[in-house]
Amino acid sequence: MKKVISWLIRFVPRKYLQRVGGFGLKVVGLFYRGSAVTCPVCSTSYRTFLPYGRIKPRPNALCPQCLSLERHRLIWLYLQEKTAFFTAPLRVLHIAPEACFIPRFEKLHGDRYITGDIESPLAKVKMDIHAIPFPEKTFDAVLCNHVLEHVHDDIQAMREICRVLKPGGFSIMQVPLFAPMGDVTIEDTTITDPRERERLFGQDDHVRKYGRDYSRRIERAGLRAVEDNFVNTLSREKQKAYGLVPGEIIYTGFKP
Ligand SMILES: [Zn+2]
Repeated sequence: MKKVISWLIRFVPRKYLQRVGGFGLKVVGLFYRGSAVTCPVCSTSYRTFLPYGRIKPRPNALCPQCLSLERHRLIWLYLQEKTAFFTAPLRVLHIAPEACFIPRFEKLHGDRYITGDIESPLAKVKMDIHAIPFPEKTFDAVLCNHVLEHVHDDIQAMREICRVLKPGGFSIMQVPLFAPMGDVTIEDTTITDPRERERLFGQDDHVRKYGRDYSRRIERAGLRAVEDNFVNTLSREKQKAYGLVPGEIIYTGFKP
């Protein structure tokens, strides 16, 4: 059983896992019930989260109840503690929406919460991030996590995010950052061989690998970039209890 689960969560792409794996993992979760860790997204407690990751699974990563990973729990806490996301009625665009967030953000913001994606059936609006189908200054917040490493022109995509944000609005734009991190982002959209992409950019559907210049790229799109080491302001105990990765930076772009 354990082997089957570990195979399932390692090799089934996350978008399918979110659609079909949910029920099975909830059952698995019953065997992991405890009090050592708590998922802030779904408020469920376990003795540990499940391991997750394709090549080298990370321990204590996946919430069996809502399928949140470390980064989702971090974003949730960040939105809660450092923004008005949970307290003010906001117009929100959620690009490539993560399943663990959708029902909860819908409850918070109702019709003002819009999900968009080029292919995901989880999203309400079918859209290309290079040409977001909304007028300028529409949204208070844009969530766009683990998207920019896949798209043809990330600067154009971020310019579009900047365009649809209201002045003073913010966008959370997490991207995967692999160690060792280069000084400069490497990209080549002409490479289409999955193995070559995996070797160069870390995954078979990535077209670039971000470097330490990521914030400068955000600024090239007209946003003010902020790198927030929010997770390290939490105690070690809290980091452990929420299953967070110490040092994981939150990248935010603010519309001037
Ligand atoms: Zn959860």
